[in-house]
Amino acid sequence: MNLKIAMENSVRETVILGTGCAGLTAAIYAGRANLKPLVIEGHEPGGQLSLTTLVENFPGFPEGIQGPELIDNMRKQASRFGAEFMPGHLVSADLMKRPFSLNFGGGKVMETRTLIIASGASARWLGLPNEHALIGHGVSSCATCDGFFFKGKPITVIGGGDSAMEEALFLSRFATKVTIIHRRDHFRASKIMLERARKHEKIEFLTDTIVEDVLDASKKEVTALKLRNSKTGKVWDFPTSAMFLGIGHEPNAKMFTGVLDMDQDGYLKTRDFVFTNVPGVFACGDVQDRRYRQAITAAGSGCAAAIEVEKFLEERGH
Ligand code: NAP
Repeated sequence: MNLKIAMENSVRETVILGTGCAGLTAAIYAGRANLKPLVIEGHEPGGQLSLTTLVENFPGFPEGIQGPELIDNMRKQASRFGAEFMPGHLVSADLMKRPFSLNFGGGKVMETRTLIIASGASARWLGLPNEHALIGHGVSSCATCDGFFFKGKPITVIGGGDSAMEEALFLSRFATKVTIIHRRDHFRASKIMLERARKHEKIEFLTDTIVEDVLDASKKEVTALKLRNSKTGKVWDFPTSAMFLGIGHEPNAKMFTGVLDMDQDGYLKTRDFVFTNVPGVFACGDVQDRRYRQAITAAGSGCAAAIEVEKFLEERGH
């Protein structure tokens, strides 16, 4: 959809920020409620599902479904019920006045009565030369999604926080061995999680170790990591079948700083599942969920946000 057309439309009933699982589910429900949602597609269309391969834990697909295909299906389903899509990047939002005013930069401003924030959280990556080419082929940021594919193989997890410990413990169910690689010898992880990982017979630690690259992009599979010991300078190839990143996520909510309540890491705070501190603004999916981060929970909260939008508008006679 053309940005100019969207801007020329009068006040929207609802605008949905994000085209991941949460945003698209919200779009399906809002579309079926006849709200003609406008869905803003940002830098990472389709969200994290579009970065995964086979999704085996989304109910309804006994043989699994490819992440990009699942997202594409949701998008088509939302379009079928009248959702409109527009590429854009929200720069700032005035949520103090009504209708809300959304600023997309370059003088492009849009008005809406309600807003659903489904802008997700982006996994942090290491920025290695071959990392991107191997995402979905042994490089992953989601143990729950991809761990199963490495059953009976050695796996590495990068990071020294609770996420890394949690991923390593989860992956130990499948892997022959899990190696946690951390750049320092001090850990941010809570004592209990660290101890649990340390005591586990299948988990080993490599500390003071920097990952310099992941091999082998030419084979489209992970065969080894190129490592460097930060104290001795020693460089070596460490054979492994997969590299899971546990170095944190960045919620995509910076544009709401000072406007919406957030926790210390920038995740939007919600009460009763999807309510933000501003009436008429709802948040769903990973931008407000640091605990479950699953496609199905994102879809569930997207559904809830759209239902709340419908109620909000109805109560105000729209
Ligand atoms: P985190 O605590 O910020 O830890 C991130 C880890 O990744 C740190 O060890 C950091 O190393 C490392 N790291 C970051 N960037 C890196 C890079 N470029 N190269 C190499 N290593 C890098 O993040 P988190 O583990 O995702 O946890 C976030 C919050 O969620 C925490 O409050 C945590 O307690 C909570 N959480 C809790 C649970 C649980 O209780 N079950 C599970 C998951 C998360 P440095 O230490 O050297 O900076």
